[in-house]
Amino acid sequence: MPDTEEFVVTPYEVRGRVDYDRLREMFGTQELTGELLARLRRLAGGELHPLLERGIYYSHRDLGALLDAYEGGRPFFVYSGRGPSGPLHTSHLAQFDLCRWFQERLGVSMYIQITDDEKYWSRAGLSREETVRWGYENLYDILALGFDPKKTRVFFDSRSIAALYPLAIRVARKIPYSSVKAVFGLEPSANIGWIFYTALQSVPAFWPSWAEGKPVPCLIPCGIDQDPHFRLSRDIAEGLGFPKPALLHSRMVPGLLGEAAMSTTGSSADNALFLDDPPAVVERKIRNAFTGGRATVEEQRRRGAVPEVCSVWALWRTRFAESDERLRQVTDDCRTGHMLCGECKGMLLERVHRFYREHEAAREQAKAWAEGAIVTGPPAGAGV
Ligand code: SF4
Repeated sequence: MPDTEEFVVTPYEVRGRVDYDRLREMFGTQELTGELLARLRRLAGGELHPLLERGIYYSHRDLGALLDAYEGGRPFFVYSGRGPSGPLHTSHLAQFDLCRWFQERLGVSMYIQITDDEKYWSRAGLSREETVRWGYENLYDILALGFDPKKTRVFFDSRSIAALYPLAIRVARKIPYSSVKAVFGLEPSANIGWIFYTALQSVPAFWPSWAEGKPVPCLIPCGIDQDPHFRLSRDIAEGLGFPKPALLHSRMVPGLLGEAAMSTTGSSADNALFLDDPPAVVERKIRNAFTGGRATVEEQRRRGAVPEVCSVWALWRTRFAESDERLRQVTDDCRTGHMLCGECKGMLLERVHRFYREHEAAREQAKAWAEGAIVTGPPAGAGV
């Protein structure tokens, strides 16, 4: 694997061992400081989401200004989305988990965009039927995380185009082709749908302001690799009379095979835990996962293992350690050689299987209200 000097992070590729502090400097984003976290903790009633507490989210743009507005009586909304090209895997859930937490703790609305159009334009091997089918499957998985039906709206692009298009017309005129080309790395042969999609992706960040006829701040939690996409939205916001969306950036969850991110684009399906994996497949993937363990039992007992490079530890840290105390225990037992990797994986598997069972039940309930959450027309009273 390339060393720290050689890491690559773009919206399409994450490679090498990423130096996240250096990446933040390269992207010019702000550090998520202890002061900001303390402020969030206070606003959220005394607790932080584990993804914030454990440093998975570590960078931002304009979060302080968003919280200033919130404390001044101006609520914000959270926005996130999914390009439906296949089943979700567990690392996709991080951004939605955090959105759900903001909704629960601060009472804010959630807007989800399902970009079935974009995936059709950008993935030559996918049919329209597949992108729509995956759009619904992914939506059920997202809603199953516990979103409030009364405060959650969905833009399913091909179904919601009447709601999105009036604003997309205005957004599109503000985005130069050269910017789209630079961010997406488009080749001259790229189809024109892919080019126009940039406008549609910005629309949800402005839609509530348009609907309400007044500035409504927006917060977008995302992997830091996606920051370049939303820089475009931020660049054009004020020219359209809307607030710049604030961003909260996470580190990437490493893949099960030891890759920098749990992505399956161009790599093996065994790099990720898909939400539709049957229990036996989940078990096989975790049993075969890349760890920070030593070559022999004797060596691991003597020297301890290295959690920071371990994909199993990353799963504990990002989702499956139910408390900070549990995470501390796993980390200590790993470092001291008190626990071996087989035992560690067994304990993790119990939690993963339980999560899958509970998620399946919640997913069935989400199906009952998903259709009603899809926005199909422009807001009443909004301008043209
Ligand atoms: S003990 Fe667990 S956390 Fe430590 S290296 Fe092994 S699998 Fe990873």
